Amino acid sequence: MIKLPPYPFKVTEVDENHPFVTNALRDRKHYEPCWCGSGKKYKKCHRLREQEKPYTLGQLQNLQRKVFWRIRGCMHPLASPDSCSGKVIDSHTIQRKGPLERIIDKTGHVMHFEPNPNDGEVNASRIGWRRASIFPGYCSSHDTSLFAPIEKGEFSGEHWHCILHAFRNVCNELYRKQALIESLEFQRTCIDRGFDLDRQINVQLSCTKSIKGQKKSLEEMDSLREKFESAIIQGKFDAFESKCYFFQGNIDVVSSSIFHCEFDFAGNKLIDMWDLNLDAEILSHSVMNTEDGGAIIFVWLKDEQAPNTVVASFDNLPDEEKGDVFVQYCFVNCENTFFAEQWWRNLSQKQQALIQSYANTFYYEGGEFAANKNRLVNWVFV
Ligand SMILES: [Zn+2]
Ligand SMILES: [Zn+2]
Repeated sequence: MIKLPPYPFKVTEVDENHPFVTNALRDRKHYEPCWCGSGKKYKKCHRLREQEKPYTLGQLQNLQRKVFWRIRGCMHPLASPDSCSGKVIDSHTIQRKGPLERIIDKTGHVMHFEPNPNDGEVNASRIGWRRASIFPGYCSSHDTSLFAPIEKGEFSGEHWHCILHAFRNVCNELYRKQALIESLEFQRTCIDRGFDLDRQINVQLSCTKSIKGQKKSLEEMDSLREKFESAIIQGKFDAFESKCYFFQGNIDVVSSSIFHCEFDFAGNKLIDMWDLNLDAEILSHSVMNTEDGGAIIFVWLKDEQAPNTVVASFDNLPDEEKGDVFVQYCFVNCENTFFAEQWWRNLSQKQQALIQSYANTFYYEGGEFAANKNRLVNWVFV
């Protein structure tokens, strides 16, 4: 999942011999391309940046939000002006008439962790269910037709139903990745207003690096999307593997997303994510409800090794620990995790503090997930 920085992101100091820096420092004519790499003429970009009035944090966040959440078109595999109908609507990545419904309180709210815009610290907060886990992903007719098979009837673990859950996660992630890149591109046009040249250079180089990393990951995501699309169009799902873990008990925590397989559940490192030459392998997870409990669904590409290893490490956990470990994994890794207020209130202060600390983990650095002695959820795997 993407954490949109709550404020302009951290600026790293750069070496003064870096080509980006020497290029920025040389004299240039007003009509030359700007040193920052925006593609604009220097006079329309950085020439007077130091004199420009900085935006307040509030203004910046409002502008950023508009850039982030703009409508980006229908993501149905067969989307086209002829086949789409109706507006692009907000889709729930966690099924509303399903797992989400199980955690809604009497006033129509669920809970999640939300960053405080002032200090970036995340806190447990209530959110109306209509706004929970949504993204503007599909036109209204495709949203209905594509997901009809998983909206109706009891979840049974059918392979292609699992694939549809994963496809929605992929679209959500792709949307957010694109949105993040556009947000970063927007940021670079204004977050260094009023800064002196040195700080402008630092900010612009950080932006350039982040955008490059995000674009690489967008390409990977896009090629994954293509694999899902052709599978869905042809109705052939044998390139994918799915595995469901059914449990009895209360669905108090629901979560849905895709991850780069950086670590397995035993905390072993599988890939160095900072190496941009390596392609990350991806695992999708979702939680679905069943009559007397629910299921954790994993989906991945059959010929990839890392997700196989991750799922095998989950499989190796004792059944009585699976629920607790999975919930920790979701709170650490996934913003798209929601929970029932009733459940949250019944936790001890110590447990709440623990979960709060998971949610504040910006970057998981390995280490085994161990079940807590006082279990967070009462899931009994069957
Ligand atoms: Zn510029
Ligand atoms: Zn459509």
